[in-house]
Amino acid sequence: MRNVVIIGSGCAGNTAAIYAARANLKPVVVGGHDAGGQLSLTTLVENFPGFPDGINGPELVENMKRQAQNFGAEYVSGAVLDADFSARPFRLNVEGEWIETRTVIVASGASARWIGLPSERELIGHGVSSCATCDGFFYRGKKIMVVGGGDSAMEEANFLTRFASEVTLVHRRGEFRASKIMVERAERNPKIKFLLDTVVEEVHDPSKQLVTGVRLRNVKTGAVREQAVDGFFVAIGHIPNTKVFKGQIETDAEGYIVSHGGARTSVPGVFHAGDVEDRVYKQAITAAGAGCMAAIEAERFLEAEGH
Ligand code: NAP
Repeated sequence: MRNVVIIGSGCAGNTAAIYAARANLKPVVVGGHDAGGQLSLTTLVENFPGFPDGINGPELVENMKRQAQNFGAEYVSGAVLDADFSARPFRLNVEGEWIETRTVIVASGASARWIGLPSERELIGHGVSSCATCDGFFYRGKKIMVVGGGDSAMEEANFLTRFASEVTLVHRRGEFRASKIMVERAERNPKIKFLLDTVVEEVHDPSKQLVTGVRLRNVKTGAVREQAVDGFFVAIGHIPNTKVFKGQIETDAEGYIVSHGGARTSVPGVFHAGDVEDRVYKQAITAAGAGCMAAIEAERFLEAEGH
């Protein structure tokens, strides 16, 4: 029987592990499919307090893990395949093996959403990316396309102009979802061109294992045309990793965990931390803060239960 199992090893999960381990709770961290979370997909992180010269994302998250291990946190690889929160102790199926635990901290994050084209999937890592910060560097002097109409798309398009010769931002509607200030900033950037009411039908060319261009369709006129690009960045939002908890804890229409105050979920003893609940801030530092909150709440919960 475990005191606390932390699901996810990104900023939120690792920080929860540091706090829970220092509280002598001997936490188990289930790393997940994408161990290290989104920080492990980034390069330089310049806004995490305490690092005036910045720190690489993978290094930051690895440091957090080592810090937690130094205090006795145990890390297991693999993912939670099934969960039973209907009775206590809670039960978690980790790669086929059931673990029993008094409390759970869900820090499973949110994954990038893709358009869903087979050609897009085949070219992920070969010119198709969901992370401008990670991959922008590879497109110095090249032509880039960004898909999306939210703040992320604006931010990524702007960021990518540091490297690209031109950035085309493609959005499926005529109006942007992004905030006015972000749209204006992108509009002022001479390297960014906008293609509205347009969808991407195909990314070329999987047979070359390289992005060479895209086929575009104007949804109003139906006109189809080709455009040559070297890099294809998808910035159409994220999907919270809560599939295995469906029906077990309250989630909203998009699958984000609904907070019941602090780090509490709808199930007493199950806590949330990080992007799996946070649809607004999504920062490394806010995820870390949320991990701290969840661990403190788990500790108090166990204390109140006499453990
Ligand atoms: P978002 O606000 O949900 O926007 C997603 C965009 O992608 C929408 O424009 C949507 O189109 C489009 N989209 C969704 N599915 C699509 C598909 N299958 N094909 C083509 N387009 C598709 O997501 P986000 O931009 O990642 O932002 C998430 C949250 O983080 C927001 O609250 C945002 O304000 C915040 N954020 C803030 C900042 C900042 O302030 N610095 C930066 C980044 C993110 P429709 O508009 O037609 O639905």
